Amino acid sequence: MLADLADLVLPAPCAGCGTERVPLRYGMCGGCVTLLEALQPFRTAPDPPPPGLPRCVAVGAYQGPLRGALLAYKERGRHRLARPLGMLLATAVAALAPRGRPVTLITVPSTAAAMRERGGDHMARLAGQAVRRLRGAGWDAGVIRPLRALPRPDSASLSVAERRAAAESSLRIRSALIGFPRRATPFGGTLVVVDDIVTTGATLAAVTRRLREADMQVKGAAVLAATQLRRTTRGSFGG
Ligand SMILES: [Zn+2]
Repeated sequence: MLADLADLVLPAPCAGCGTERVPLRYGMCGGCVTLLEALQPFRTAPDPPPPGLPRCVAVGAYQGPLRGALLAYKERGRHRLARPLGMLLATAVAALAPRGRPVTLITVPSTAAAMRERGGDHMARLAGQAVRRLRGAGWDAGVIRPLRALPRPDSASLSVAERRAAAESSLRIRSALIGFPRRATPFGGTLVVVDDIVTTGATLAAVTRRLREADMQVKGAAVLAATQLRRTTRGSFGG
């Protein structure tokens, strides 16, 4: 809210490259918009992929204006960037979801603490905008949030396998939804998990395994950005 007002009152810098006092479209300068519009979603996979990681499509590498816009959106409260970023996310979803079949987006959940820090569920906003875009392009699209994320203990001292187990046990299926996908079809069709960034794929894999336990067969994962593979992994829900 305050950030939205600030956007109206003060000329905000470009969210993509930080240039000040330039005309902005979607919160970004013309150069950044052009670069983002030119991105072609691509298949990506960490090496080695964690067990259970579904096919993963990213809009772009985690660099340049994509990185800038994502950081401004997530960490600096520029919530109106949900629209252009959601439109980009839709292009990755479209690469996984055949036309003519309903597609349901499932957001990777944030912990309550992360949502407080960021002023809401940033992935829910992105997914909502992606759904709008997909519907505009002719898809029968919807979004559900069947998972919630519990706080995870610091995982720095854990082994890879222990970290994997901790990631999965911190994800809970909302009890109201248990059994729901089994008997109902409104959310049928293609199930695509959506997240902002993929690094090790651990989070996407844990989410997918959890959903499969609840009989929700995930077709793939769509993310905005893929980081370069790193040897170290972080304990937060950024994996
Ligand atoms: Zn820019």
